[in-house]
Amino acid sequence: MAGKKLRIGWFSFTCCEDSTIVWVEMMNENYFKWKDLLDIRHARVLRKINDMAELDVAFVEGAITTESDAKKLIEIRNNSKVLVAIGSCACVAMPAGQRNTFDQETKKEIDFLVKRFRQTDKVRSLKEIVKVDDQVEGCPMDEAAFLRTLDKYLKQFGVVDA
Ligand code: SF4
Repeated sequence: MAGKKLRIGWFSFTCCEDSTIVWVEMMNENYFKWKDLLDIRHARVLRKINDMAELDVAFVEGAITTESDAKKLIEIRNNSKVLVAIGSCACVAMPAGQRNTFDQETKKEIDFLVKRFRQTDKVRSLKEIVKVDDQVEGCPMDEAAFLRTLDKYLKQFGVVDA
């Protein structure tokens, strides 16, 4: 077990990225512990060169609004042993997917924007596209729940003692 690290990726789709900010802020308290436990392979907020191959855990924030993002999510899923939805937008597509609730008239008004940005008709949560193994709810994500989830997978992958 000595020296083993959890290979993780952090990904953001359509959202305000506040859970990413929360995660980075959490490094103020956790960095020196996490640097020995986490091998952060993909996190555009932290790294210039990113690699999503063979991740143990992918943490994914945001809702899915385009077919190209849906394809990217499938690619992340195919490269990860565990996929965790982070925050309400990833878990239930809200509030990022507010336009799903618009009435027909309002939908008509925004139709030109949906088309211009090649958006799908419906904003989707992650689980509508791929298998999601776990989720950390909240808007932004609940910090304590994130720490519990991370600890669970550190143990499950044998990085720390169960
Ligand atoms: S769940 Fe809330 S905080 Fe997180 S991306 Fe969506 S709107 Fe932002």
